[in-house]
Amino acid sequence: MQKGNQLYEGKAKKVFATDDEDLLIVSYKDDATAFNGQKKGTITGKGVINNRMSNLLMKKIAETGIPTHYVKELNDRETLVKRVKIVPLEVIVRNIAAGSFSRRYGVAEGVVFSSPTVEFSYKNDELGDPLLNDDHAIALGLVTREEIETIKKYALGVNSFLRSFWEKRGVTLVDFKIEFGRLRDGTIILADEISPDTCRLWDSKTKEKLDKDRFRLDLGGVDSAYKEVMRRLEEEA
Ligand code: C5P
Repeated sequence: MQKGNQLYEGKAKKVFATDDEDLLIVSYKDDATAFNGQKKGTITGKGVINNRMSNLLMKKIAETGIPTHYVKELNDRETLVKRVKIVPLEVIVRNIAAGSFSRRYGVAEGVVFSSPTVEFSYKNDELGDPLLNDDHAIALGLVTREEIETIKKYALGVNSFLRSFWEKRGVTLVDFKIEFGRLRDGTIILADEISPDTCRLWDSKTKEKLDKDRFRLDLGGVDSAYKEVMRRLEEEA
């Protein structure tokens, strides 16, 4: 596999072409941003952790029947993935109130929902990633009705898998964000990453935050939280 030109550099990852037009290489950086890029920093070793964690979880998710972009881990920071056109939606699943949900609706952090919620934001930095519903996404031509139903079904499937995976390791999955993409033939698959950058993960006993909220909220211990969550992930359950 020949690594080609850099196609894109995002906040936490770079993407490279390969000699196969249906495959790309994703390279994970240690850079961290929050609040739409207003807060910037570095989390030492984050790229290595997010690469390994995302790959391990994507492999297990694929075993549940949800297709993903994962192909092969190339090294500590780089992974071969299927080329997709990203659906410009942030798909957020929540089990417990936190973050923007708590702020928007005035609900205390930690309130447990009777069933998971799925919400969508329009991936658009200029507009500040506004919240939108199924009908809005269809009206904007971002997805078809059938696609959004598939995306919701997959998002809830990912949530069921991740919740029980983490629960066995003493970690509570509060919420997470995933993204989907379309293969050349239009098939919707899970893309992007699943990591402490994109999930809220709390120690089940102490409720200690083991994710990017430590960076967002200046809580300290960011590097060690990422390492701890990686250690738990690799624990036999
Ligand atoms: O901030 P908010 O409460 O909406 O975040 C919900 C979940 O989505 C959190 O786990 C957060 O880490 C993730 N998220 C993300 N990227 C964004 C927005 C939220 O990974 N741009």
